Amino acid sequence: MQQAPIMRLCISCRKTYNRKNLFKITKDHKQGIIFHNGMGRSAYICNSKKCYSDSKIKKKLQKALKTSLEPEFIYIFEKEIASFNDNPNQGI
Ligand SMILES: [Zn+2]
Repeated sequence: MQQAPIMRLCISCRKTYNRKNLFKITKDHKQGIIFHNGMGRSAYICNSKKCYSDSKIKKKLQKALKTSLEPEFIYIFEKEIASFNDNPNQGI
């Protein structure tokens, strides 16, 4: 028997996807903003370039995570999401 996939909303295009195919950003209570893991408020972004390279993505993330992000966040984020999309079976 196959379990129903856990669906999550992409904060950019507002469509729901299987969580396994989404890039997860978490505001962890202890570690701050981290990718894929962590406990705390999370946001998900799908692997569409239109979504993660959206010029408003930082604003959308800040709203979703209820936090303010460092200016260098986008640089790290773009690198992380690019490597995530190259190896989609890694992570969660
Ligand atoms: Zn999307």
